[in-house]
Amino acid sequence: MIPPAATRRRGAGDNVSLVNAPEALAPLTAATTPRWRDANFLQSLGPAFGTDLPPRALATPHWLARSERLAQAMGLEAWLASDDALEVLAGNRVPEGGRPFASVYSGHQFGVWAGQLGDGRALLLGEVDTPAGALEVQLKGSGLTPYSRMGDGRAVLRSSIREFLGSEAMHALGIPTTRALAVVGSPQPVRRETIESAAVVTRVAPSFLRFGHFEHFAHTAQDTAALRQLFDAAVHRYFPGLDPTPAALLEEVARRTARLIAQWQLVGFCHGVMNTDNMSLLGLTIDYGPFGFLDAFDPNHVCNHSDDQGRYSYARQPGIGFWNLHALAQAMLPLMDGAPEAASEQLLAALDPFKAEFASAMVAGLRAKLGLAAARDDDPALADDLLRLMAEDRTDFTIAWRRLAHIDAARDVFLQREKFDAWAVRYSERLAWESSADAERAARMNRINPKFVLRNHLAQTAIEAAQRGEFGETERLLKVLERPFDEQPEHEADAGYPPDWASQLEVSCSS
Ligand code: AMP
Ligand code: MG
Repeated sequence: MIPPAATRRRGAGDNVSLVNAPEALAPLTAATTPRWRDANFLQSLGPAFGTDLPPRALATPHWLARSERLAQAMGLEAWLASDDALEVLAGNRVPEGGRPFASVYSGHQFGVWAGQLGDGRALLLGEVDTPAGALEVQLKGSGLTPYSRMGDGRAVLRSSIREFLGSEAMHALGIPTTRALAVVGSPQPVRRETIESAAVVTRVAPSFLRFGHFEHFAHTAQDTAALRQLFDAAVHRYFPGLDPTPAALLEEVARRTARLIAQWQLVGFCHGVMNTDNMSLLGLTIDYGPFGFLDAFDPNHVCNHSDDQGRYSYARQPGIGFWNLHALAQAMLPLMDGAPEAASEQLLAALDPFKAEFASAMVAGLRAKLGLAAARDDDPALADDLLRLMAEDRTDFTIAWRRLAHIDAARDVFLQREKFDAWAVRYSERLAWESSADAERAARMNRINPKFVLRNHLAQTAIEAAQRGEFGETERLLKVLERPFDEQPEHEADAGYPPDWASQLEVSCSS
């Protein structure tokens, strides 16, 4: 819990050392209110890019959870403990100097062109200057906007807690992601399959730019001038130093996306809705909805109950990322001079590095997960054969990798022991080849293979507690997930196999 402002003193606390004078003398006023910039990035480009509007009021808001870590990084720890923050992040007060804004974008949903979408329930409060650089602060679930279409502009408690925990857990795993500063709850009813209660998540990122923003101006608005304006400004602001050509930007986004998805695969993360409007231009994990971490390893696992075709299964994520990059390339085509065939070839060539970038990120990542310090050509086969055996035995993805630091402990989680033993002989030989020291290797592996991930049943337990008015469980779980590689023996239960009821949990697009 973040204590109330009145009891909080910067630089004073249990662990302040008397000899640590500079810390004790730190200014007490460092964390004040957010410093809002005059306009956010898209707003500054003009009215074609979205709409200025205030958030809708939320009845009797209360804190559901706050991320002390992110607040600290933003220099907003004291503010986040204040009533002003609660009012602002509930959407009940426009902060002084803030100019809330909903942006317009379009996109492909489940492989089909969906036309205009946009911030239908998200609202950018603005951009703030923080010690960690300029960051956009966005409310999700803050009410109707011009882009709400048939929706109500709201989000429910369950999906908001999942997004909050999911994004902070991914950050702690070292995976690029949008962050979550807080969740505000309210008794205000929201109709989904049943009546649920409303919540608003505060999301934070350097930019919430999506592939869909480019698709919008290329296809829906068919406004090449606006597309060019967006392209120029985005490269200048977010990719300084990059050659300002569509091909160079595409290649950079392709490489970032490849590395991001490799990180997802390596940790067993399934996004669930990889529509082009849910793809970040900066290569961040964005729009946490029906996401999930693998329990038992099934490469064809589909975490989104609404995804009948399994388009966004775990194994298909890299291919879908590549498909989405083609949609982005298509949106860049109007920016190209010369013959259409040559332009299209040039853009497709810019995407090509995706394959090698993904493959090398996977191989390097798997080597690290295996604790291998040196590189050998047969390493991919060694990793592949382990993954195949894990899939055949449906071993728990997180537990199997974590236990591999001690090979005997890993053996227990496999059903086909002879097959595992045969693999283990090869692995031991491989370790001997590089004279791997066991203790060092185990320590290295435990910094790569997490012990704690946000399994569905853990999120569900926090959600059900919050629905009963017990909010402490969300913040307790957050603290555990903030240290995913530490042993934390007191939280062993959060690292165990999922209970039987976990397989009955259905996570869908309804949020
Ligand atoms: P998603 O699948 O959550 O990424 O949402 C796709 C589009 O639908 C985005 O433009 C969202 O803003 C919009 N949307 C989703 N849920 C709602 C809602 N409850 N009210 C308004 N718009 C929504
Ligand atoms: Mg979305």
